[in-house]
Amino acid sequence: MVTINDLSTGDYVPDWCPGCGNYSILNGLKRAIVKLKLKPRDVLVVSGIGCSSKLPQWIDVNGYHGVHGRGLPVGTGAKLANKNLHVIVVGGDGDVYGEGMNHFIHALRKNVNITLLVHDNQIYGLTKGQTSPTSMKGDKSTTSRRGNFDDPINPIALAVAQRTSYVARTFAGDLEHMTDTIADAIAFKGFAFINILQPCVSFNKHNTFVWFKERVYDLQKKGYKPNNVEKAFKKAYEGWDSGWDKIPLGVFYKEKKPLFEDDHPVLAKTPLVKQSIDNISIKKLLDELC
Ligand code: SF4
Repeated sequence: MVTINDLSTGDYVPDWCPGCGNYSILNGLKRAIVKLKLKPRDVLVVSGIGCSSKLPQWIDVNGYHGVHGRGLPVGTGAKLANKNLHVIVVGGDGDVYGEGMNHFIHALRKNVNITLLVHDNQIYGLTKGQTSPTSMKGDKSTTSRRGNFDDPINPIALAVAQRTSYVARTFAGDLEHMTDTIADAIAFKGFAFINILQPCVSFNKHNTFVWFKERVYDLQKKGYKPNNVEKAFKKAYEGWDSGWDKIPLGVFYKEKKPLFEDDHPVLAKTPLVKQSIDNISIKKLLDELC
C-alpha cells in the first residue's frame, strides 16, 4: 500500500518561501493519493508556470512541468492517450485564469475526467507580486500602485455558470478539508475543479492565513447540497459584494455527465496507448495528409 513516504522526493525538497500555502497543498495532494490507495505509476501531475506549478517536481508520481497556462491542454491530451491514468492539473490563479483562461473555460464544458487544482493566492508570486486575475479590488501591488481597478474574476461562478460537473473550494489552512475535497474530486468521474485559497506569505499581505481563517466556513456542515445550479450560483457570490465577510468552502455543484473519452468510439474501446498500430499503414496516412 502506498504511503506518504513513497510519494516523497527525498533530499530534493521544495524551494517555496517558508510558510507558503503551497506546502500544505502538496501535503494534501499526497494524503489524498494515499487515502484513495492510488499507485504512483497510475497518477500524472501536470502544471503550467508559477510557484505552484513547480509542484510536480516534489511528488514521486509521473509529472510534467509545462508552459504558462497550458497545463489543461497537456493534461487533457494525456488523459485521452491513456484514460487509465489519474490526471491532476495544477496551476496558480495567474497561470489558469490569466494565461490559461481560454483553456479553463473550454475544459469546464468538455468534461474530460481530470482534476484541476488552482492554487489561488490572488497575486503573481513567482514574478514577485503583480496583480493577478483574482486580486481583490483596491489591493495594491507592483503593477497596481494606486490599487487594483479591475473587478476580480469569480472562478466558482464561472464554473457553475457552465454547469461544470464538479465545482469546489477549499483552503490551504485546513488540511483535513483540503485532503478530503481533493480525494473526493479525484474519485469523481468527470471534470473536477477545486479553487484552493492559498496565502502567498511574501507578496500578498492582505489575504493571509489569519484573514481567511476568520472568514471561511464549511458549506456541507451547514447542510448545503450541491445539486442545484441556481443555488450554487448564488452561493458562488456569497461574501463577494461585502468585502468577503464570509467565504464558503466545500462542493458548490456536482452533476454526473457523460465523459468525453467514453463518447469517442476509438477512445472508449481501449486506452490509445494500449492499441496496436501493427495494422496501420504509415504510408497510407502520409498519403492522406500530403
Ligand atoms: Fe509561495 Fe508566494 Fe513565496 Fe511563491 S512567492 S513560494 S506563492 S510565498
